[in-house]
Amino acid sequence: MVIVGAGEAGTAGAIALREGGWRGPVILIGNEAMLPYERPPLSKSILIEEMNPGPKLLVTPKRLAEFAIDYLEGRNVERIDRAAHTVTLSDGAQLIYERLLLTTGARPRKLSVSVAPGSRIATLRTYADALAISRIVRRGCELVVIGGGFIGLEVAASAVSRGASVTVVEVGPRLLTRAVPAPIAELIRAKHERAGVCIETGAIVEGIEANERRAKVVLADGRTHLADLVLVGVGAVPNVELAQAAGLAVDNGIVLDETLTTSDPHVFAAGDCCSFPHPLYGERIRLEAWRNARQQGAAAAANMLGANRPYENVPWFWSDQYDETLQIAGLCREEYVPVARSLGPKGQLFFYLAADGRLVAACGFGCLGSIAKEIRFAEMMIGRRLAPKAEALADPAVNMKSLLV
Ligand SMILES: Cc1cc2nc3c(=O)[nH]c(=O)nc-3n(C[C@H](O)[C@H](O)[C@H](O)COP(=O)(O)OP(=O)(O)OC[C@H]3O[C@@H](n4cnc5c(N)ncnc54)[C@H](O)[C@@H]3O)c2cc1C
Repeated sequence: MVIVGAGEAGTAGAIALREGGWRGPVILIGNEAMLPYERPPLSKSILIEEMNPGPKLLVTPKRLAEFAIDYLEGRNVERIDRAAHTVTLSDGAQLIYERLLLTTGARPRKLSVSVAPGSRIATLRTYADALAISRIVRRGCELVVIGGGFIGLEVAASAVSRGASVTVVEVGPRLLTRAVPAPIAELIRAKHERAGVCIETGAIVEGIEANERRAKVVLADGRTHLADLVLVGVGAVPNVELAQAAGLAVDNGIVLDETLTTSDPHVFAAGDCCSFPHPLYGERIRLEAWRNARQQGAAAAANMLGANRPYENVPWFWSDQYDETLQIAGLCREEYVPVARSLGPKGQLFFYLAADGRLVAACGFGCLGSIAKEIRFAEMMIGRRLAPKAEALADPAVNMKSLLV
């Protein structure tokens, strides 16, 4: 069993192969020259803490040895030969596979501006990126974040709490347009502004002039923002080139069927790099979320061993913004009917009902304990395709658990 990509999905897949009883070789190949680590802390603790806390490892060398996982680090898989069942590595080595799992993840989308190498412009995906940002972002530093999505806002929150002065420039009419309903996005904006972050929506970046010491962001209306660092957080693109070159079907991600199998029955995929059909939404989706990567890696591994189980876990995402959490279960879509539940000072929730009354999504922002509990029950209802009454959802006195029938 060969796994390409040693991130959340690949590492979970490798471990699940062993837990699923596979006794043959498990080879995990990653192109970063370090042990597999978690990405969520890169925009949070690693940027906030003065003393670098180091990467949060997904697996230790001891665990790799216990699971007899052969981890090849710092090596890129350059080519897949599906007819010969081989992969070729950057060091020229060739490995034969019986089943192949692709977990190549995603990379930051780039702005179409050309800047000199070494300029004060950053993106954030890897531990190395986080270290480079954390060296610059500290008290007194000026940071401009391009993009009011999750990564940009988390970096803004971390930077401002470290004493930096932060401006977020977002082209859309509001923050978090892709995944978060407008009223919750407003609460998040207010939280950032109270913390001192300057947020400009509807702002079009026309160019960036940067060198190795300073950067200048030029907006379409002629205004400029000077910065010690510009963080570009304008989304991610799936790493599909390897799959594409091997002739696998690709369409906004490596195309999978419900069992996470690619267009080749010997090749599976999981995590940020793939798109898969979701039975709850009747459509093909691609998720960039920590829990999905982990669960999908394990589910793909089970199917590599012949389980043949459809993957239908409810999408779930969280983001930390200051001392509050945002959690989303399901997919929030404009066509769904929103139902608000206020938890007072502990936070605000919105539930979303489909036309047939089914609960299909929930989104909450506030104090971790309260939000996590309610979203967890909502997630269970979504998975069970329940249609709770809107009045009950709206009433904070009604225990969410009681609606799980
Ligand atoms: C800064 C940051 C903060 C985040 N915060 C949150 C959060 O708060 N909540 C949440 O739900 N999600 C969060 N996420 C998203 C979550 O981390 C990702 O969804 C998850 O890491 C995806 O896992 P993956 O295994 O699919 O891909 P990745 O973790 O990207 O792993 C893929 C690995 O494959 C390697 N690779 C690619 N091509 C090759 C090749 N040809 N050969 C060898 N190796 C290759 C890549 O270099 C990478 O190491 C965050 C992501 C980032 C970047």
